[in-house]
Amino acid sequence: MGRKIGIALAGLAGLVALAGGIALATLWFSPSLQDAAMERVATAMATPDTEVLSKDALHIVFCGTGSPLPDPDRASSCYGIYAGGHFFLLDAGTGGWSRLARMRVPVGGIDGVLLTHLHSDHIGGLPDIALNTWAAGRKAPLKVYGPRGTEKVVEGLDEAYAIDNGYRIAHHGAALLPPEAARMDAVIVDVPDRDKAVTVFDRDGLKISAFQVNHLPVKPAYGYRVDYEGRAVVFSGDTKREENVARFGKGADVMVHEALAGHMVNTIGRVLAKAGDRRARIMGDIPDYHTTPVEAAGIANEAGAKLLVYSHIVPALPNSMAEHVFLRGVGDVRPEGTMLGYDQLYLELPVGSDEIVRHDLR
Ligand SMILES: [Zn+2]
Ligand SMILES: [Zn+2]
Repeated sequence: MGRKIGIALAGLAGLVALAGGIALATLWFSPSLQDAAMERVATAMATPDTEVLSKDALHIVFCGTGSPLPDPDRASSCYGIYAGGHFFLLDAGTGGWSRLARMRVPVGGIDGVLLTHLHSDHIGGLPDIALNTWAAGRKAPLKVYGPRGTEKVVEGLDEAYAIDNGYRIAHHGAALLPPEAARMDAVIVDVPDRDKAVTVFDRDGLKISAFQVNHLPVKPAYGYRVDYEGRAVVFSGDTKREENVARFGKGADVMVHEALAGHMVNTIGRVLAKAGDRRARIMGDIPDYHTTPVEAAGIANEAGAKLLVYSHIVPALPNSMAEHVFLRGVGDVRPEGTMLGYDQLYLELPVGSDEIVRHDLR
């Protein structure tokens, strides 16, 4: 009996494969069918996902959960925050823009970009964001909030891309691409006191504040807290273990914390040193200004965060075994309420509830 079912299933699978093969062959030789399929794909890409952002909620989309180390699965630091009719990006890591595009979230009405600090993996995507939000209808310069030095970054990028912007205006016209909106405007966020958070934005129920973290020799370096109608998320930015993240993240629903697994990075460093690779030195240096997964779990407990999301993950985690090793010891400190962030994760925190709804937009 079992054998008969097995033969029947194998026969069915063969038929399905054959049908698939015929469909592919038909498509391969028919330009009109190819054009129709292309139109369907283009329509899907051009249509914002109506399910995403439909509720009155604090929405967080993860457009980059990686670091400067190459990782095919993770763009560099990037998060989208939507609430109260506003849209901010927090950090502008390389590759973040393409993740946002894949999620089909609206991007034209961007309020600004919030930078945690000026390391390359947090600013490298700024030109893509400037160009694409301009094309999507931004009418004024892109506001880039960040620590001292942001003005230099923005001026330099504006100059580097001035020729490109000129070509775009010449090609598409100033009516479609207003020249004054091509550039970026720096808004300096000054947090002089490590014991006080500074409000960066406060409108329509959405409040964003910045606080100091410790990423020396990078100074200033900030974490951000975002509050909307009783819901809150705190972002650690890049930092070694820092009490301020617990203090200013107190009672947040979600804590997005950076993490570097020292036990894995040390192994990589040893292997590179054996091979005489000069990058062994870098592997030796980086653990001293990042937080381990176990330390971040302790910070999330102190803050009373309901969900801890690991992000800015170092090193790359190519499979579930690597993920398991990365999280070694975390369960002892924090048995529940922890997850590994990934690109195209979307968290929805509806107003008037304590729910945290997880959506996978991959
Ligand atoms: Zn970083
Ligand atoms: Zn950094």
